[in-house]
Amino acid sequence: MRSRPGSRARVALAAALVALAATASAQPAPSAPAPPAAAPRPAVSELAPLALDLAVAELDGVPVASDAWLAEELAQAERLLAPHGVHLAPPRRRALAARFARLETAADRDALAAELAPGALQVFVVRTLRDVDDPRLERQGVRWRLLRDLRKSYVILSTAAMPTTLAHELGHALGNPHSPVPNNVMSYERDDPALIAFDASQGAKMRAVARQLLATWQALARAAAR
Ligand SMILES: [Zn+2]
Repeated sequence: MRSRPGSRARVALAAALVALAATASAQPAPSAPAPPAAAPRPAVSELAPLALDLAVAELDGVPVASDAWLAEELAQAERLLAPHGVHLAPPRRRALAARFARLETAADRDALAAELAPGALQVFVVRTLRDVDDPRLERQGVRWRLLRDLRKSYVILSTAAMPTTLAHELGHALGNPHSPVPNNVMSYERDDPALIAFDASQGAKMRAVARQLLATWQALARAAAR
């Protein structure tokens, strides 16, 4: 998604997240009435966790993103995927060369294909990510496919990303297009962290794609073991 001028939305989001955390940790008074029963959620099949390869660009030997920032992106992605039976395994982390830290062109993005690790969702974390359609803009993240080999696809996450950007890009990687519904994970309009979610049909799509990925990766692993 594109970053907006200024970071007011992000500040508001951070404040709301803090408020949400405070609410969640508050103990209900003993006399508080029971909360209304939540609508029963239809049971979903739980899939094995998806392997995730996290390659973080380094500048002067220092990762462009802090451990805390990465942990928050991963935690938000897991929080939003989990209700749909899709889970992320603890990431396999590695360093990415400094020449990938600032991506300006489509060719820069394509060059990352040489750095793909097999058998995992691939996430590259970079310092800056130029919008290739409108070079006046920076992007927070993108799901990029190699035109000469569409099987090669990966998520690129900029350190300008807001906490739910990884979830959004993984939503693309797991088969979903954008949504016009505000506060859907796949919408550009996300302003209320309490409401941000994937809907049931997006969840079903993600489970189906995740199942295919798991089967493909298992086949790869079997072939490699022979
Ligand atoms: Zn998108």
